[in-house]
Amino acid sequence: MIDTPVLVVFFAALVTAIATGLGALPLLAVKHLSPRVLALANAAAAGLMLAACYGLIVEGFAFDGRRTLAGIVAGLVFIVAAGRLLHRHENVSVAEVTGADAKRILLIVGIMTLHSAAEGVGVGVAYGGGRTLGDFITAAIALHNVPEGLAISLVMVPRGATVVRAAGWSIFSSLPQPLLAVPAFLFVLVFQPWLPVGLGLAAGAMFWMVFAELIPEANEEAQPETVGIVVTLSFALMLGVQTLLEA
Ligand SMILES: [Zn+2]
Repeated sequence: MIDTPVLVVFFAALVTAIATGLGALPLLAVKHLSPRVLALANAAAAGLMLAACYGLIVEGFAFDGRRTLAGIVAGLVFIVAAGRLLHRHENVSVAEVTGADAKRILLIVGIMTLHSAAEGVGVGVAYGGGRTLGDFITAAIALHNVPEGLAISLVMVPRGATVVRAAGWSIFSSLPQPLLAVPAFLFVLVFQPWLPVGLGLAAGAMFWMVFAELIPEANEEAQPETVGIVVTLSFALMLGVQTLLEA
């Protein structure tokens, strides 16, 4: 099963991080994007994420269904518990940091890092399942990161940041991906029985993110009916790409 060098895993996860920076580029052309465009971009990101979950779960079941299911539940528990921990700190006054704004920023950065960490683990364990799965998950997460970079840039650029700066921060927000992909990859290679658990874990955490973060955000600024259409189409499109890769 070791058909992927460690360096490839690192660069794949680096590509997903850099893709986040591409989200800043539309702001070179237009300074103001309607919130609806961002909402629909988030919906597309949700569909890509669901396609990644699907790929991880199918592969996990090919190894061991029960372990994959255990992983899904563990991933859910992990992401919810970690998120709660972050929210609890919101109400505690942190030394040197004052004001609700600073806390809000810390919370957002914390959630983004957690989110990105789950995706990095996803890339790493996917390569543990084989090169094809790894490439598919990398493509899905990289594409999904573009609207996330756009979201970050849409907050920064209208407040005076340059597009380059916004792109830099977008990439920075995704740096947990290359940093965590390699250890996750090595872990499931060495401890093979844990591979389906890891695949399920990444899928469980990302599944929660789709319904707790991306879709509610999309529904705020776009019609749920339209959001549903975009999510389903982007899911189908990504699986179509997978079919082409396998052909
Ligand atoms: Zn993401």
